[in-house]
Amino acid sequence: MLLRERAALNFAEREIEEEVVAPLGIRVVGKAEWENRFPYSARGGVVAHEIGYGKTVVSLALIDYMRAWDTKESIAEREAKVDGAWSQELPRPFEHLGNMGSASLAAGTEKANSFFIHLSATLIIVPKHISQQWAAEAEKFLGLTRPKVLVITTLNAFYGTSMEELKKAEIIIVSGGIFTRPFLDRLHGVTRQVTESTPATLPGRAREAWYREALRHHRILTAYYLAGIAAGIPEKDLVAALNERGLPGLIRKQQADIDALLAKQVQEIDRQLYKKGPKSKAAVAGSSRSAENEDATDNEDAAEQETAMKGKGKGKAKVTAKNKGTSKDKEDTDDLSRGKSQWTPTCLHNCSYARIIWDEYTYDGGDLIHLFVSNAVANAKWLLSGTPELFTLQHVCRVAAAFGIHLARPEPRMMPGLPPIMTGPALDPMSKSEEFHVFSSRVKSPSLAMERHEHAHSFVAAFFRGNALDAEIDIPVEEHVIPLDMTTLTAAHYHMVNQELLDAGYDFTILPSHARTIVDLKGTDLLNREGPEVAKMLLGLLGSGLGQVEASMDAMNENLARRVNVLGDQMKLLWDKTMWLWRWILALMAGNREYKATEPVANSLTRVKALCDSLTEAMSDSGNLEEFGGKEMFDHEAAIIAGVRGAQSTDMTIESLREAWGERFKANWADCYNENKALFTWFDFFSIEASNYDHLTDTQTRLLAEDMCWLRYKISPHASPLTDGLPSPDFLGNGNASPNSSITGRGIPPTIEELVERDKRVLDGMSSKELREWVQQCMEQQPKTAQEWDQIKKNFPFKVEDKKPLKAALIERLTELNLKFSSAATVQQLKEILCAHEHGRSVCENYRDGRAPPDRYRDFELTTAWGEPAAKQIDATNEELKRTMVHLAKTIEDLRATMLEAKFAPEYAALARSENKDAFLRKKRCCSCFRPLSHASSSFLVVACGHLLCRECKVISGFYCPVEHCPAFVRKRPVLQCSQIPTSVAEPLPKAESIAYFIKNNIPADEYVLVFAQYRQLISALAKAFDQYQLSYVNLAGTKDNMVAKKLEEFKVGKAGQILLLDMDSETSAGSNLTNATHIIFASPYVHPDPEHQTRTVSQARGRCIRTGQERKVNVYHFMMRGTVEEETLRKYAEKCKPVKEWFDKDGGGLPWWMT
Ligand SMILES: [Zn+2]
Ligand SMILES: [Zn+2]
Repeated sequence: MLLRERAALNFAEREIEEEVVAPLGIRVVGKAEWENRFPYSARGGVVAHEIGYGKTVVSLALIDYMRAWDTKESIAEREAKVDGAWSQELPRPFEHLGNMGSASLAAGTEKANSFFIHLSATLIIVPKHISQQWAAEAEKFLGLTRPKVLVITTLNAFYGTSMEELKKAEIIIVSGGIFTRPFLDRLHGVTRQVTESTPATLPGRAREAWYREALRHHRILTAYYLAGIAAGIPEKDLVAALNERGLPGLIRKQQADIDALLAKQVQEIDRQLYKKGPKSKAAVAGSSRSAENEDATDNEDAAEQETAMKGKGKGKAKVTAKNKGTSKDKEDTDDLSRGKSQWTPTCLHNCSYARIIWDEYTYDGGDLIHLFVSNAVANAKWLLSGTPELFTLQHVCRVAAAFGIHLARPEPRMMPGLPPIMTGPALDPMSKSEEFHVFSSRVKSPSLAMERHEHAHSFVAAFFRGNALDAEIDIPVEEHVIPLDMTTLTAAHYHMVNQELLDAGYDFTILPSHARTIVDLKGTDLLNREGPEVAKMLLGLLGSGLGQVEASMDAMNENLARRVNVLGDQMKLLWDKTMWLWRWILALMAGNREYKATEPVANSLTRVKALCDSLTEAMSDSGNLEEFGGKEMFDHEAAIIAGVRGAQSTDMTIESLREAWGERFKANWADCYNENKALFTWFDFFSIEASNYDHLTDTQTRLLAEDMCWLRYKISPHASPLTDGLPSPDFLGNGNASPNSSITGRGIPPTIEELVERDKRVLDGMSSKELREWVQQCMEQQPKTAQEWDQIKKNFPFKVEDKKPLKAALIERLTELNLKFSSAATVQQLKEILCAHEHGRSVCENYRDGRAPPDRYRDFELTTAWGEPAAKQIDATNEELKRTMVHLAKTIEDLRATMLEAKFAPEYAALARSENKDAFLRKKRCCSCFRPLSHASSSFLVVACGHLLCRECKVISGFYCPVEHCPAFVRKRPVLQCSQIPTSVAEPLPKAESIAYFIKNNIPADEYVLVFAQYRQLISALAKAFDQYQLSYVNLAGTKDNMVAKKLEEFKVGKAGQILLLDMDSETSAGSNLTNATHIIFASPYVHPDPEHQTRTVSQARGRCIRTGQERKVNVYHFMMRGTVEEETLRKYAEKCKPVKEWFDKDGGGLPWWMT
């Protein structure tokens, strides 16, 4: 480090560009090389080590050693080189200062000679939660306290620390928490107004350009200031003059320069790239008064950005006027700095430093810090990090940029087929010229990419150096793997959900809702993870005992049976609806001889016919049952469709079914559905209103009344017949509201016809007038008409908690509900989607799994209202028919899966509960070959269907379960070896409690523990379990940001409990030294799609207490649910961790089924 501090490291930069000249068929490569050297700072380097290297201490030692140099040579060098390089920037002689300028000129200061307040201090930027830690270590090792050490944690202190204090300080610690949006907003006052909102919204490069302009003004003003003070001008007057005249002058000058520059080029650019329509042209041509601030700010790169800026700002006054008219971002109306100058003499922007140390540069939220560090002036820069990110060109480029080194022009997009190491930074959004570039050059040759990569390598070689201190970290560590078993119930659910996930291709979003919601996942959990990652999260949490499973095996079986019933009813509903819609189309067509069926309509009709024909055929003696999922499934489905209840009962033979059902599926199956009044008839098809009610004939009124009776029985489980004469107006009551409550447990009585017959007799007894009144009363309960619906949508209330932005909250909610939406949708559109769902108006297409709640209204009345032309009605009806068929198919799939699960669960439970599995199995036979089973290790249970297989039959099974007629798909699906099913005589504790129990019983109360957990649910379960076991702990994951530092400090000194609970996915503990703890618990193996990230995060976590300064042995515990996705993850980790691998080799047991 010392060496690098004194001699600048020159770095040859290379710019490489490639273009294919298509007409000539040649590839042109352009190359430019130049030296990059101090003062644009290529001094310093990266100090990075996996863990515990003691970077803080080494850095402090460096500061200590360099103390004398920092106060003399360092400053002298900066004065000579930096100020020298900057002096040409200075407008002279102080032209923007008017009299004041002349005054200082008169005083003999012809030219300002310094642009910075050159400090001898080291500036250290740290994550906000360890700013106190740095201060404490500076005191501990160097004995430095205030005023030698300054800790700056607010933006006001950043701007307002006095010159005297700055000069006294040896170390200035700046909290990374300062570098947020207000940091940029504050600079808004010293530069042109480039956007109507804030520079935070500028795309990356334009923002950097803008930032540099702001710094430039800062530094020129500092030069004026220093010269003015030297000339003896009173400070107050001087600052006032700088703000009143100096700064506005600079801004005007800058604007004028840009205008002049663009005046030459803009027409060309405008024609080629900037075709934004006449408005922007007008702006460019000078009549900017009419120019609108069109949203061109999104996509330009720096140069073009300026074009856009120019259109917007001809001098400040106009800009302000325009701001008024185009407040696209309403939230940004705060006039913080607009039109007001904000320059103050003491501000860290105005200073230069002996060195800048950026600790934990990989810590998140570093974008603005990066901007600050790369543009700040210092003799040397150091980047510190445990567990550095350095795996792609992207990371290297980022690090290089902090040293002011432009490493390679990163590719916005690489063509496929190149080596993966070439990952370029995602420049989002792509600039116009990049888009053009990508568009125009089709070839990106690997050689070019490799050349760039080599350049990055040379940077790494120069700036990163292997350190010799590796061996110093010799802290004894003992690793333990602690396997846990799931409870029988959890395990049964786990296997079933896993099966469903496999069927869904590991896509969480297309899981049926019962599987999706078995663990309470919120939108926030889902949004920042990909489908497969969510699937792993779901399985991990379910396995850890955090699923909402039933209290007992019996309850689970009951639940499954109920789900079979519910799905059966749903299927019946959909089937009837399909038939009714089909008939309705035919009826409409019959009434319109001229109508020619369109293709979709014809298709639907054919499909319905084909389905019914094959059912008819299946009913015949030789019928093929395969497409109905085998005999068993067919029996069930057929029984449901036939309206015969008790379909699960085994006494119903295919013969009896054929008898009961044959009626309907003979030659004219179509007619058999005649009497099945439509479920949705009344709601959807007859938009009868008060205005046309009088037109109804008596017969029509009577038919409507009958329909309503039908509807009621189908929708409501509790509907009772009309025995008491005139029904009350709330007759439909639970029939048309709260669909969820009505579908569960509803059984369609086989006597529904009888019930309606009874009702009909009541209706017979009513006078025509009574009947009319009654129908009218019911009519008033009809769902809202279209007009009212618009009102509902408009006024749909949606409450947001936690002050979250409305759109984000809506997106989270829609994600939870599995609703589809476009990311470009407006808040109003998102609201409407949610509103439609809540009012039961969403159709299958609106859901990501294609499953709408089945028994809700359909948003379809308008086009089918009577009075519309037949063709329109037919098309609308057909749309509904198609949806219904899709929904029906999905329902049948769900039903099938659930029926099979209902077989697996009890079989699994019986096995898990038998203490002697061999004995238990010897009483059983292989379901396929019927030979008796012998040992648990040679017997298998198929999760998909609950069939037991011997080894031979398991081996020969291909895609399907080998048992005859079994429709279960088994290829790459779980088939459990019976000996691997844990015996659970006493049910194990869920994971969180197991961990709490473990700590309570195995770790002395005076030893400190770090518990790392992933996922919100597990963290809160752990917190709860710690409470339950009366363990004292700090939940850092549940601690507000501004309290993190305090809590950490409390924990370190033993004032905050024995346990520190941390979230693996958040880096809130990065950099903190927690060597007081000697136990590390990983509540679950850490899951992340990027293996590098995964490894790094785990080392980062371990490094909190396995690091320099640790004097005792550290115990690391890996908790894992055996036989789940966690085992898979931990086995992968074992490849990098020898003791864990040894554990698996010795005690780990066989590989789980899917890893063999
Ligand atoms: Zn067998
Ligand atoms: Zn089977």
